[in-house]
Amino acid sequence: MNSTKTIGIIGGGQLGQMMAISAIYMGHKVITLDPVADCPASRVSEVIVAPYSDVEALRQLAERCDVLTYEFENVDADALDAVITDGQLPQGTDLLRISQNRIFEKDFLTNKAGVTVSPYRVVTSSLDLEHLDLSKTYVLKTATGGYDGHGQVVIRSRADLEVANKLANATECVLEEFVNFDLEISVIVSGNGRDVTVFPVQENIHRNNILSKTIVPARISDDLSAKAQAMAIKIAEQLNLSGTLCVEMFVAGDEILVNEIAPRPHNSGHYSIEACDFSQFDTHILGVLGQPLPAIKLHAPAVMLNVLGQHIEQARSYVAENPSAHLHLYGKIEAKHNRKMGHVTVLGEEAESVEEFWNIN
Ligand code: AMP
Repeated sequence: MNSTKTIGIIGGGQLGQMMAISAIYMGHKVITLDPVADCPASRVSEVIVAPYSDVEALRQLAERCDVLTYEFENVDADALDAVITDGQLPQGTDLLRISQNRIFEKDFLTNKAGVTVSPYRVVTSSLDLEHLDLSKTYVLKTATGGYDGHGQVVIRSRADLEVANKLANATECVLEEFVNFDLEISVIVSGNGRDVTVFPVQENIHRNNILSKTIVPARISDDLSAKAQAMAIKIAEQLNLSGTLCVEMFVAGDEILVNEIAPRPHNSGHYSIEACDFSQFDTHILGVLGQPLPAIKLHAPAVMLNVLGQHIEQARSYVAENPSAHLHLYGKIEAKHNRKMGHVTVLGEEAESVEEFWNIN
């Protein structure tokens, strides 16, 4: 127990960087695999510079590390299977396959985990979209490769349906009913292959399909919070989860519907670095190493604001005026528009009234 390990992280972005920082605090050594030499994780770890699909580079990482993990779900599961030894990737490649494909994911969530999702069906061509009842609204999502609203068409009219037909003929999709949700929430849960630990419920506000603000605890009833946490735990237990998983959900009246899962620390969990006694990155590292997991305490209500490329100056002046706000910058060289460059966490009762950088843009 607590012996020093070498942990290999596939992906050296901000999530890989923050995982590495937690691992280093615990005394471990970290090697990341990333195509970019000066990626955020290069500040805190050795980097093997190669494409994620480079089997030889993956093999080198596997040979040099005791345990492997990933910071994003679009890793080549077959390539990983070919290089890992038994138990070397505690999260397993099945979880990757489930979260890479919305058809597998919905099937897992409804038929295995037994949680509610918005009504959906699999669409293999535009023929499956004939006779659609356009008195309702739908979202067509590509089964693979979509993120932050990319690869999605909201269908409200005949004109939208034309666009959706093209997408449906190009690739496999799922068609979901559009949920008129009251708010979007997420729950972070971590496992060590035996037990799980769950974080407070997070309320998420998106702008242009990108997370803008997370408020913790979410402004929902205690009953709904308990229900959301129970759903996340059920999913984690069904997976024999190792490491951190984020469950994204919609709250609609008394109902909670699961939208999707991400098998890794998540942007909506960044507040946990300062606001909780253990962060989602700490429990990720403890979890993949199979170590005991702590119950999570929230020290104070918190708000996290994302700092995109166009917000860096606003974020700097915000913390200059509010020195108790925590500014994180990930060390990315180029501040592109809409690129996640950092975040700010504000703690305390007044936190939820903090304005998003979007509003002052
Ligand atoms: P996703 O890529 O599935 O996370 O979707 C991105 C965003 O689109 C979500 O955060 C929601 O704001 C919105 N969205 C996705 N699916 C639905 C749905 N079935 N009903 C309403 N809004 C949705």
